[in-house]
Amino acid sequence: MKINSAAGPISTDDLGATLMHEHLVAGFLGWEVDTQAPRLSREAVIEACVERIEELQAGGFSSLLDPCPNDLGRDPELYAEVAARTGFNILFTTGLYHERAGSPYWRVKLQGFRKAAEYVAAMYVDELTNGVGPSKLKPAAIKLAVGADPDSEYENKLIEAAAIACRETGAPIITHTEAIGGEVLLAKLTGFGVPAHKVIIGHSCGSRDKAYHRSIVEGGAYIGFDRFGLTGLMPDEVRAECLHALLEAGFAQQVMISHDCVFCNLGAMYSPGLASMLKTHSSMHFSRHVAPILRERGVSQAAIDSLLRDNPRRYFCDEVPARGKSVAAQPA
Ligand SMILES: [Zn+2]
Repeated sequence: MKINSAAGPISTDDLGATLMHEHLVAGFLGWEVDTQAPRLSREAVIEACVERIEELQAGGFSSLLDPCPNDLGRDPELYAEVAARTGFNILFTTGLYHERAGSPYWRVKLQGFRKAAEYVAAMYVDELTNGVGPSKLKPAAIKLAVGADPDSEYENKLIEAAAIACRETGAPIITHTEAIGGEVLLAKLTGFGVPAHKVIIGHSCGSRDKAYHRSIVEGGAYIGFDRFGLTGLMPDEVRAECLHALLEAGFAQQVMISHDCVFCNLGAMYSPGLASMLKTHSSMHFSRHVAPILRERGVSQAAIDSLLRDNPRRYFCDEVPARGKSVAAQPA
């Protein structure tokens, strides 16, 4: 099956080991008018991204999905340039960020706008069908971001817009959540006619509540264990233990592994301590530090490889994941 990448359509057979939530660049709106923040040239940003991607290639990866929202610095031309220099598959999305940290333009525009969901959906459908910006590169998926309250007026409009665009184009949905309310979000999406297996409930590893994780995978969605290495938010050991519990319960086909790294943060929004933590946050963290924890718990390398290779391919191929035998107790 063909899917869209920053280098044009590619075969899902060529995805290989894929990280499903990493960012080349991202900046919260307003960074561009912070005249005191250090500024990298475009060439320097590209070089920094190429360096990070070469590290991933050396580590056996060949693809990533960058689910940067349209209003947080999404830059398809930059993805294309980095893809051309490295041969790495870079997939991107269409979608607006959530109410609290997204664009005030959209917050104002959608307020009291009766056909808001249809309006936003038409933009997503146009981007998925005709491409984005001057290069007309096409997104591979729809980004849907919700805050701590996935039932706010603004979030409800974004949820319906993503559902309409998914139904019209068949593109799958990747979500940002605050590790709460994922089951509510999933119920809303399926209520709008989106098949559960076309949805990733992102950042779910920010919760240590195993019943919460179960409610998402039992609902048929993919679950994002996609912030490994952000240890200030949740220790790796807890994320690994919760992941292991899902593998043991037979949900291996529904887990998406990633880190939510930002190779180049635009502007300088974070405190020096947080900024330096984010700078050293590596997309190789799972392979280097979490896979060994899983192997120690009896998960085979083949099962770990399958999480990184087969789950992303299945998601993009629109295949329904099967609940399998436990992969957690096989000898290493
Ligand atoms: Zn992210």
